[in-house]
Amino acid sequence: MTTLTTTQAADLVAANRILVRQGVLDAFGHVSARTAPGADTFWLSRNLAPGSVTASDLLEHDLDGHTRDPRRTYLERFIHAEIYRRRPDVMAVVHSHSPSVVPFSVVGTGLRPVLHMAGFLGGRAIPVFEISDVAGDASDLLITSSPLGAALAGTLGDSPVALMRGHGSVAVGGSLQEAVYRAVYTEANAHAQATALALGQPRYLSAGEAAAANATISGQAVRAWDVWHEQVRPDIPAGDLAPGPGQE
Ligand SMILES: [Zn+2]
Repeated sequence: MTTLTTTQAADLVAANRILVRQGVLDAFGHVSARTAPGADTFWLSRNLAPGSVTASDLLEHDLDGHTRDPRRTYLERFIHAEIYRRRPDVMAVVHSHSPSVVPFSVVGTGLRPVLHMAGFLGGRAIPVFEISDVAGDASDLLITSSPLGAALAGTLGDSPVALMRGHGSVAVGGSLQEAVYRAVYTEANAHAQATALALGQPRYLSAGEAAAANATISGQAVRAWDVWHEQVRPDIPAGDLAPGPGQE
């Protein structure tokens, strides 16, 4: 059992709203966080459209996807559970169906960085999870069990992002802010890469450029968070906003 601080709860509420505002989540998809590296529980909203999530909707889940709360949970909570189980370094997970990313899950053209802001994608094509390898050819494509979640986490490996064929993607981070940044810029990069592919053969960031750009920019993800947070602040119930310094 862990407890979310008021600030952590406020940040998770804000992350839901930010990801909707940035076009990563819509009526579906979800974002979770845990309170400490390696913690064996994580916090995720009950089954609700992300744009409607408030602090009272956040439920603690264990790594088998269970909660003590009777309210309905997300069908795909196993995505989060199994990534946290496999990756002690991961502090937050975003699962989305963001529209520019999905095409890269169904063709052989790998998602690769074309933007310096997406250097975190690294020097290799982002892995794609093929659900039919574990669920056969008549599944609903959803990650609705621990074994399916574990298989997806295996495809993710140590990558910051994995695509899910015909479905969406996951982005992870060492902080909530980093996971949100990566989800937003994965979508932006996919859009830019598709545009470039329509014009000709893109020149992708080299592995060295991707690493250097990531090293420079990763420390600035908080600036993006601050701007995005300001944009959604008017939509958040006053009681769910982060307390000021010294108020917690
Ligand atoms: Zn999904």
